[in-house]
Amino acid sequence: MGRLLTLLCLMLLGFPLQAQWLTRNAEAMGTSVRIELWQPDAATGERLIDSALAELQRVGREFHPWREGSQLAELNRAAAGGWQPVSAELFGLLQRADQFSALSGGAFDITFASVGRLHDYRRGVKPDAASRAQARALIDYRQVALDGAQQRVRYRREGVVVDLGGIAKGHAVERAATLLRRAGVEHAQITAGGDTRFIGDRRGRPWGVGVQHPRQPGEALALLPMIDEAISTSGDYERYFVDGGVRYHHIIDPARGESADQLQSASVLGSDSLTTDALSTTVFVLGIEAGLALINRLPNTECVLVDTRGRLHYSNGLLRR
Ligand code: AMP
Ligand code: MG
Repeated sequence: MGRLLTLLCLMLLGFPLQAQWLTRNAEAMGTSVRIELWQPDAATGERLIDSALAELQRVGREFHPWREGSQLAELNRAAAGGWQPVSAELFGLLQRADQFSALSGGAFDITFASVGRLHDYRRGVKPDAASRAQARALIDYRQVALDGAQQRVRYRREGVVVDLGGIAKGHAVERAATLLRRAGVEHAQITAGGDTRFIGDRRGRPWGVGVQHPRQPGEALALLPMIDEAISTSGDYERYFVDGGVRYHHIIDPARGESADQLQSASVLGSDSLTTDALSTTVFVLGIEAGLALINRLPNTECVLVDTRGRLHYSNGLLRR
């Protein structure tokens, strides 16, 4: 009875009438973005979505590898010539990237860009064998020197270039999620391309994520319930072209300087988007055996992998779930 009265009072105040799910679809960081949140007041909710979206766009702008006005593009132009001071945010991203490289024995390597930039996957452009081999010799994350004391960066070798594409979207999504959480949002979903971060649950039930079928667009292979965590998927079907029976796509195996060919997709679940983004790219390069071994020894991290024959492989924690 008391609860009914409270509900009635709140209705009279207009509270539950306005409380609602708000959704926005947009473009940012060269990919499609979706933000969904629960907010008692619609105008506040729309403003929060605006600021989350602005944060995604800012990260996309500042960490674009080549475009004018980007911190990273500036670093790529100058860092082979000597130490460059950088922002705390860029320094932090480079440090995290370095950690994932060390963790994976170089499967994750932001200097893949010397090879990556010779491709245009939309137009079907790739380098000839000689240029590929030359660029491949420049891939080595250890060529990126980080001076923590002075927050500056230098590339040890001419020709080294960095692309943060394997980590920047996850970082952006995590930043946007932090912004919403700090503003009091308790239920939300932020997706940018293959990276999704959930805040809380879907009001009393978990969020549901489908692992996309790598060869059948729109079809899900597995459904995963998620609460207050992140999931990132890397696939060979996102940006690719086929030439002479070979699939050329955007994830480069640093060891060979060619597109990684061990998996069709790798989805990683964890507590934050930056980590899951970096790890999905990493595991995609590592393949089934080394990928599962890596994920199984990391706390609070799980994965679902699809091999080249379309078979699913789960990490130990997901098998238990
Ligand atoms: P994702 O879709 O999250 O796996 O990210 C793919 C992006 O990561 C590519 O578009 C590249 O920008 C970048 N990338 C490709 N290969 C690597 C690699 N071996 N290590 C780190 N980043 C990579
Ligand atoms: Mg990734």
